[in-house]
Parts: sequence; structure tokens; C-alpha cells
Amino acid sequence: MKTIDDYNFKGKKVLVRVDFNVPLNEKFEITDDTRIRATIPTIQKLRKEGAAVILMSHLGRPKNGPEEKFSLKHVVKDLSEKLGTEVQFANDCIGEEAREKAAALKPGEVLLLENLRFYKEETAGDVEFAKKLASLADVYVNDAFGTAHRAHASTAVIARFFPNAKMFGYVMGNELKNINKVLKEGEKPFTAILGGAKVSGKIEIINNLLDKVDNLIIGGGMMFTFIKAQGGRVGNSLVEDDLLETAKAALRKAEELGVQIYLPQDAVIADKFDNNANRKTAPSNEIPDGWMGLDIGEETIRTFSQVIENSATLLWNGPMGVFEMDNFAKGTLEVAQAIARATSKGAFSLVGGGDSVAAVNKYHLQDKVSYVSTGGGAMLEYIEGKTLPGVAAIEE
Ligand code: AMP
Repeated sequence: MKTIDDYNFKGKKVLVRVDFNVPLNEKFEITDDTRIRATIPTIQKLRKEGAAVILMSHLGRPKNGPEEKFSLKHVVKDLSEKLGTEVQFANDCIGEEAREKAAALKPGEVLLLENLRFYKEETAGDVEFAKKLASLADVYVNDAFGTAHRAHASTAVIARFFPNAKMFGYVMGNELKNINKVLKEGEKPFTAILGGAKVSGKIEIINNLLDKVDNLIIGGGMMFTFIKAQGGRVGNSLVEDDLLETAKAALRKAEELGVQIYLPQDAVIADKFDNNANRKTAPSNEIPDGWMGLDIGEETIRTFSQVIENSATLLWNGPMGVFEMDNFAKGTLEVAQAIARATSKGAFSLVGGGDSVAAVNKYHLQDKVSYVSTGGGAMLEYIEGKTLPGVAAIEE
């Protein structure tokens, strides 16, 4: 892997694609600085090695050119504090001001460019735009794993202008190392735990994982499509009828490959989609009409926990139930705790994807699992087995 650990940055101008796409409130204050914090080690390493660091990022989804609420200038103060140095800012990511400020930047100094997506050329992957960005620096570092699945100008196209000076920053490197550790080098038994609302968003992941795992645990809303495919009665639970055949095919493939599939035996069911609904436990394949499954039941929690605790490698994506509602959060909490227990006994556990990351944070288990991926969509595409343009552009 080409990383910033084996390159001489002395006197170089280094252009770093970071992910500063942070949430801002009405006063343009940062409400979650996780993504900024994540890139600090990369930036400090480059500064320490004598590089002048030029940072570029997108923020939000501006539609038609510059917009105050999407300006990266809102990030400057926080970033300066975190780095312990005054970060300079260019009001445009290309053009004269950016050129002049980049040219005048000294070793150890940091310049942040304005939002790349103020130009539609960014998402269009425009080569000329990428060339203009590239002209600001000698070296290109990609540290934005969250956009690695996009073939944008700054995430992929630009790399061609740095054939011998392109590499991954620490965020990117860590994400790839940890996901590869699970997908390519995972010790057996390897168990994947999938949940969340729908099968449709996860079917490619299931198909790719079936070649790799020993056990596949399925919970969340998506379990009901599988249970119905097996002939079960699911009442008013979330079901994707157009995917019943797909679900059956996945179950057949699992059997052929010798993968053990675990579907919930019981479910916590409710008479409406509401935290205060009437609730009871029922066999997951005998849910009466008018009732819907919103969490996995106690018996299932026991089975899932046992499988998890007997695993050496764990990959978790998606909640086991509607964990946003306290009355249907137990399954997700208990699975998260079982993963933490397995980790304390030596298993390697990776948690990824928006809602499972939210759950792990909610239950304060971030430090009790081996790695939490912040990659979101990029991480999911990677476990689907797809090539990420941002990764390929560096490796080519
Ligand atoms: P996803 O984005 O596909 O990972 O889905 C996450 C969402 O799935 C969360 O908002 C959960 O509330 C929801 N979810 C989990 N279990 C169920 C269920 N049994 N019925 C409906 N929604 C569910």
C-alpha cells in the first residue's frame, strides 16, 4: 500500500483530499467534528516531514456555485485549534488566489481551499478541473475514504497527474487495512451480522459475503423477506415481495457453500410503528395480521450472542430492530454487547455503516470493538466486492 510513511516530503507542496463534510448548525458551528479529528494525524505527519499542506474537500451538496452555508471557511477556526497553527484559506479552490497562496505556502504551513463542489466539474470528474487542482502541488494524498466510491475530479481523476507521487493518508490506509483484515485475512470462524431496514440495499453484500463467511446472522427489517421466502407468516412486518426469489436464491447459495444462516426464531412484535405500541413476543414466522416485528426476541438474542461469542472474526452492519425506539432497541444493544465480549476474548470485530456505528456510539462501545469504519457508502461498496475509484486511482 502506498502510504505517507515512505516518502520524502521535504520542501514539497502536498495536496490532500480530506473529508471535511461535517454537519453545521444555523450559526455555522460544527456539531460533529469526527471527520476533522480523523485527518489530524495525516496533516501533522506531513507538516512534521517538511511539507506545505494544501487541503481540499467538499461540504454538503451545493447546487449552483458558491453558497455561504456550504463554505469551508466555517471549518478554519476549529482546524487551526486542532493543528495548533493558523490555517490559511483560499476563497476559491482554483484560480489566481489559490495559485498565489499555494505558491507562497512554506514548509509546515497549511492552506485550506474553498468547497470543491462549488464547481460542478468536481462531481462530473472533469479532467481540466482536476488538472487545475493538480497544478497547485507536487504530491497528491487521498485521505477521504468517505468519497472513495466516487470517481470525482479530486478523489480519482486528479491522481493521473501525479503518476509517481500519489498515496493514501492515514484515514484511508486504516480503513483499507481493517476492512481487508476482515474480508481477506479474517480468522475463522468468520461471522457477519447484517440488519437494517431492507434487503434491497444489502443483497450484493450478502452475495459477496457468502463466499467468505462461516456464519451469516440476519436481523432487522430485512429478516422478514427471508422468513416469508421460507414460507413464514410475517403479518404487517416490513417485507420486499419483489425480492422473495432473490432471498430464496441467497439461502440456496448459502446451503451450497456450507454457510450457516441464522434467522431470528422469535421477534418482538407491535400493533403499530410506535414506541408506545402494544407489544409481545411471537415466533418470527407466525406473526398475526395487524402486528409487525420491530426487534429480535429473547431466544434469538441468546442464539445470536452464542454464535458471535464463538467467532474469531466479526463484521457488523445494520441494527437488529428499530433501535431508535427504546422499546425495540434491546436486540441491537445485546448484539453490540456480544460483539464487545467476543472482542475482549480476542476476536477481531469491525463495525461499519451509519446505523450500527450510531448504535455502538449510543451504547458507548466504540472502544470495545476492534475497528469502527466511518466509510458509510464507501465501506458498503467495498464489502460488496466493488473496486473503489479513489482506491484504484492510487494503486494503478
Ligand atoms: P439501513 O439504513 O438499511 O441499515 O436501516 C436502518 C434502519 O432500519 C433503522 O432506522 C432501523 O430503525 C430500521 N429497522 C431495523 N429493524 C426494523 C424492523 N424490524 N422494521 C422496520 N425497520 C427496521
